Amino acid sequence: ALAHHAATRPDAPALSFHPANDEAGSDWMTFGEANAQVSAIAAALRQHGVASGDRVAVRLGKSAVGLLLFLGVLRAGAIYVPVNPKFTSRETGILLEDATPSLLIDNKSAELDDAVREKVRVLGFRNGESDDLMNSGRATGAVAEEPGSNDYAAMLFTSGTTGRPKGAPLTHGNLMSNIGALGAVWGISPGDRVLHVLPVFHAHGLFIAAALPLAHGASVIVTENFDAAQTIRLLPEATVFMAVPAIYTRLVQREDFNQAACRHLRLATSGSAPLSPELFQTLRDRMGIYVVERYGLTETSILTTNPIDGSARVGSVGKPLPTVELRIADETGAALPPGEVGQLHARTPSTIRGYWNRPELGDEWSEDGFFDTGDMGRIDEDGFVWLVGRKKELIISGGYNVYPREVENVLETVPGVDEAAVLGVPHPDFGEGVVAAIKCDPAHPVSREEIDKLTARDLTSYKRPKAVVFLEEFPRNAMGKVMKNELRQIYATIFS
Ligand code: ATP
Repeated sequence: ALAHHAATRPDAPALSFHPANDEAGSDWMTFGEANAQVSAIAAALRQHGVASGDRVAVRLGKSAVGLLLFLGVLRAGAIYVPVNPKFTSRETGILLEDATPSLLIDNKSAELDDAVREKVRVLGFRNGESDDLMNSGRATGAVAEEPGSNDYAAMLFTSGTTGRPKGAPLTHGNLMSNIGALGAVWGISPGDRVLHVLPVFHAHGLFIAAALPLAHGASVIVTENFDAAQTIRLLPEATVFMAVPAIYTRLVQREDFNQAACRHLRLATSGSAPLSPELFQTLRDRMGIYVVERYGLTETSILTTNPIDGSARVGSVGKPLPTVELRIADETGAALPPGEVGQLHARTPSTIRGYWNRPELGDEWSEDGFFDTGDMGRIDEDGFVWLVGRKKELIISGGYNVYPREVENVLETVPGVDEAAVLGVPHPDFGEGVVAAIKCDPAHPVSREEIDKLTARDLTSYKRPKAVVFLEEFPRNAMGKVMKNELRQIYATIFS
């Protein structure tokens, strides 16, 4: 797709990069330049002995040329394996052991132990200049064979909020199916400028916020990190903004996050974690447009999105993409009628065919090709999907099912409550007891009495929290997602 835009619109802007604390940022790199650099990277990788199907692990900070490295690995027919650059040697080692890459590209920082370096060949890559990767390989020769749609393009590890990370190998066909469908539904075109503030070692930042716009010929403004002030400074240049709820929470704390900053935005999206109805309303007031909530998994890419035409439903994650079939199933896998809560299964050409090195994890796939997302929800008569929490997070208290999302939504209506995370931990009488972890607005402390009053009004007794803990911040992963497994460990004995 990049080569196509380079051929038809070589001088069109593709990427610009804004390092942290840098007012000016870089000039635009055109599609022609970007495409030439991707080819040079692919040729260099080949000269370093990378063969089709090899894994190339990349553990680098975010940059525009870093995105070209991703595309270069793909063009070389290899499999891109991004590693969070903040991962410790231990964490990096776990992923490398599973992925067995032929090459690890990192900035040769001192952070990685020799034990990790000894296991894999390490090359440096610094903006494509004077580094190991490009030095010996500034080749101009094209890579002979283009990878096919069934070849693997990238392997991402799920974020591990529910256990050990699993490698999800995605084919070129998986990615292109989702990029095509989502681009059409969101109307991504060469006229768009996407402001990219997300990390690029997850599906959201890599495929949705970066590969998708480039594939549709749009321009991408890349920031090194998320910084609220820098984001607000760059927003007026953008027509599209993609973020996670934790980023929106930070933005609304600033007064200059307003309609003037968002004046050219036609699309703002949220995903990776639930967007509360309160935050949705605040954002609509502040931005002048509503945030389009969408939902997906590393394994499937995007499954659903709210419509962008004004008919979004607050609290719903929207409708399936045209390439996606969904069903709500009971424990046996049998389909349930509309409106009933159950396990959400999806069938789509964007779903992986299995986990890397984990034949034993095949239970997610049913015989007729549906994938069990691990999420629970319902689909209403108009086809909108409403998530209620993950299967593993379902709380069974006194024999009743408690869906964390419902309780969180009620808690977040209590004035002063910024965010709530609801989980179940062992309880001597009820099997599991509902625990609410609450993050308050520091300027507006909330008492246990206020919480009890509101939950008593809006929730039947078995759903009400039996314990409430107030936290200044939740444990979160790099996408801002609350690590409920950590909370569960911390409060495991709260009822004993
Ligand atoms: P692991 O599977 O290793 O525990 P993970 O589930 O966090 O990690 P991801 O693929 O990054 O791995 O996240 C997918 C999950 O994120 C979905 O199953 C869903 O629970 C959640 N999610 C994504 N978008 C939304 C959304 N808009 N609203 C609510 N939850 C969402």
